Amino acid sequence: MIPRLDVDGRLPCQDSPDLFGGREGERPGSDAYKRRVRAAQLICGHCPIRLACRDLGRGLQERDVWGGEDDKRRAAAGTPPRRRSPSNAQLRGRRPAA
Ligand code: SF4
Repeated sequence: MIPRLDVDGRLPCQDSPDLFGGREGERPGSDAYKRRVRAAQLICGHCPIRLACRDLGRGLQERDVWGGEDDKRRAAAGTPPRRRSPSNAQLRGRRPAA
């Protein structure tokens, strides 16, 4: 079972799902990847559940941006990503629910 966070209201990432979860054919470390991740991190900076989301991403050892934290930062925290990037459709079901 995949843990979920229940929150009231709409989450910032729900308005920009393409920025979260990676894009097909995107190369990690590429300029496009860095721009996308940076944009996602800026959105997370305004999220009321950022720390809980970050902890969920760490706990699941997810890829991509969770709570403003990318793969590199998650690895530095001792929880390196271990799963393949989910599709955006999968992602919508796994991010904290509004
Ligand atoms: S912190 Fe998590 S829930 Fe909030 S905008 Fe970022 S990815 Fe979405």
